[in-house]
Amino acid sequence: MSISENITNLKKELPNHVCLVAVSKTKPIPNIMEAYNAGHRIFGENKIQEMVDKWEQMPKDIEWHMIGHVQTNKVKYMAEFVSLIHAVDSVKLLKEINKQAKKHERVIDCLLQIKIAKEDSKFGMTEADALALLNNASVKEFENVNIVGLMGMATFTENEAQLVSEFSRLKNFFDTHKTAFSFKTLSMGMSGDYKIAIAQGSTMIRVGSSIFGERYQ
Ligand SMILES: *Cc1c(COP(=O)(O)O)cnc(C)c1O
Repeated sequence: MSISENITNLKKELPNHVCLVAVSKTKPIPNIMEAYNAGHRIFGENKIQEMVDKWEQMPKDIEWHMIGHVQTNKVKYMAEFVSLIHAVDSVKLLKEINKQAKKHERVIDCLLQIKIAKEDSKFGMTEADALALLNNASVKEFENVNIVGLMGMATFTENEAQLVSEFSRLKNFFDTHKTAFSFKTLSMGMSGDYKIAIAQGSTMIRVGSSIFGERYQ
C-alpha cells in the first residue's frame, strides 16, 4: 500500500480524541509530501538538524514535533518553529527551551518524558523526578514554556501484558496529576503498540514505519 493509503486508513481507525504524529525521521521529503497531500499536517522527527532542513524546505502549515532526546545546545535551532517537544527530561533543558522561546516571543508546548520501559537504554524521568520538576519554583516562573502533558515509550516487546502494564501505569500517573498541572496530552504508542496504548488512554500516538515503511538507517 502507498503512504497516502496507509495514513488515510490509519486515521479512519483512530478515535477522535487521539492525535496522530506521523514520524517521518530518515524519510525523504517526497515521501513526507505524499502524507501531506493526503491531508496530514503533523510530523515528528528525532534529530533537530534533520527537522530544521525539512522545515526549511516544506510547506509552512506543517506542525513539527521533536520526539527524540534533545541536547540543550541544539534547542536554539528549532525554537522558532517547533510545535511540541515530547521528551523534556530536566530543568536545565526546560530552562534553555524557555530562554530560546522568549527570543522568538513564543510559548513552546512541552511534554515530560517518563521512563516506563524496563530497558535501560530509554531516556526519561522517574515519576518522582517529574513531580519535583513540576513543583520546582523556578520552573513555575518559566513564561515561555507550557508543560501540556507526558510522554512514554514502552519496552520493545510483543508481550501484551507488559505493554498494558507500562502504559496503564503512565496513564494512572497522568490522571492523578492532570488537574493540578493542567495536563492535556498523553503521548504514548508507536507502530507496534499504538492499539494497546490507545486502549490504555493515550491521546497522541507517534507512528512511523506503519505509514512510511521500514527505516533502513
Ligand atoms: C521512531 C520513533 C517512533 C516511531 O516508531 P515506529 O515504530 O516506526 O512507529 C515513535 N516515537 C519515538 C520517540 C521514535 O523515536
